[in-house]
Amino acid sequence: MTTRRLRSAKIVATLGPSSSTPQLIRDLFEAGVDVFRLNFSHGTHKDHQDRFTAIRQIESATGRPIGILADLQGPKLRLGSFAQGPIGLEAGEPFRVDLDQHLGDRRRAPLPHPEIFEALSPGTELLVDDGKVRLRVETCGAGFADTQCLVGGTLSDRKGVNVPNAVLPLSAVTEKDRADLAFALEQGADWIAFSFVQRPDDVAEGRKLVAGRAGVMVKLEKPSAIHRLPEIIELADGFMVARGDLGVEMPPEDVPSVQKQVIHACRLAGKPVIVATQMLESMIGSPAPTRAEASDVATAVYEGADAVMLSAETAAGRYPVESVAMMDRIACRVQKDPLYHSVLEGTLIEHEHTAPDAISAAACQVAALVGAAAIVSYTTSGATALRAARERPKAPILVLTSRLGTARRLAVLWGAHCVHTRDVKSFGDMVHQAVRIAHREKIAEPGQRVVITAGVPFGTPGATNVLRIAWVDR
Ligand code: PGA
Ligand code: MN
Repeated sequence: MTTRRLRSAKIVATLGPSSSTPQLIRDLFEAGVDVFRLNFSHGTHKDHQDRFTAIRQIESATGRPIGILADLQGPKLRLGSFAQGPIGLEAGEPFRVDLDQHLGDRRRAPLPHPEIFEALSPGTELLVDDGKVRLRVETCGAGFADTQCLVGGTLSDRKGVNVPNAVLPLSAVTEKDRADLAFALEQGADWIAFSFVQRPDDVAEGRKLVAGRAGVMVKLEKPSAIHRLPEIIELADGFMVARGDLGVEMPPEDVPSVQKQVIHACRLAGKPVIVATQMLESMIGSPAPTRAEASDVATAVYEGADAVMLSAETAAGRYPVESVAMMDRIACRVQKDPLYHSVLEGTLIEHEHTAPDAISAAACQVAALVGAAAIVSYTTSGATALRAARERPKAPILVLTSRLGTARRLAVLWGAHCVHTRDVKSFGDMVHQAVRIAHREKIAEPGQRVVITAGVPFGTPGATNVLRIAWVDR
């Protein structure tokens, strides 16, 4: 039986061919996964459905709520196919992309996205295959662009194309995404991640489609989204620093600062943020990470990220369980460093002039002053727990909610240990249940105190107005 995790930062792991048997998913969970990511760029609905089933089975077997993040592919641009396999292109050579449906050759290839041509102008760069090949537009017109190759390499069927500095007239949600979204919601996904979000309107569109049935997560992987970060943060529920595409769309040296800026902004907003991609990349084929990768995971944790994520390491690598275990060890080690807490506490957090914010802030302060074993946060929508986590308190946050969806969604939240409970009936019942669960979950021992926040009348979302210190009976 899995015991309580002693780690504040959470782990998100992507499932794929390397990790799809129920036993492996269970092993990943035992090793430390809090949220599973299903990547809809790969796999069939049947593949994903089997994963939903396996995860929910682990949940009932262990009694621990698990988050499921459905990651939609989004408007990823791709080249069409080539007539005679891959071609080699050298710097200086001309190359045309166009809407012609004929298969590609050494001089041209189809780029079957009409919208992209409207946004091109001479000088625009097209980055193919994660930026391995760079093409600069020389001349362009309706449905074609003549480019010069700046950095040569191999072009082959269906390689991805990025257009870094253009806002493309593309909807953030494709036809495939709509079908995947409907499927994921039907299966009970807790978060829906939207890829290649460019503007606030894209988030609004996503919100409308999700219609409150899951949390809306924005993958930050376009410079245009970073430029409008405050508005985008306002509109979504959670965020992912999607460093894979971000590092292609902007110079790699900009990515670390953007990561820091995004984590900071999300913390101030009280919304969870995941740092993703290449965190333990070499563990795809090796049982140990590089020193630089260990440091990268640690850095994200030191910065106060809610969660760190594994992609190919768990989806397609040779060491999926070892990768999770390693991430767990790194995050736990950072947490032992007194500097970690002093840096988090050093961030100036302003409070909103509302009862829930006042109570959450006070609870964290009281817990620190009396040395409480936990902050117990009764929440319906999850909002109160988000406000408490924003403080990054030293004591764990025991989230008690009668909504299973809230417990699952908050699995990604920094410091939160979520428990699905029944509704409480009275003040006495509320205190008694909090203390009992804190003890049962091994968060507080007899003789220790917990600080409880709740809303009276009970079960009214947004009504947090009570702060109570309670002892765990000896
Ligand atoms: P992806 O997104 O793995 O779906 O491309 C993550 C990233 O770009 O970092
Ligand atoms: Mn991406």
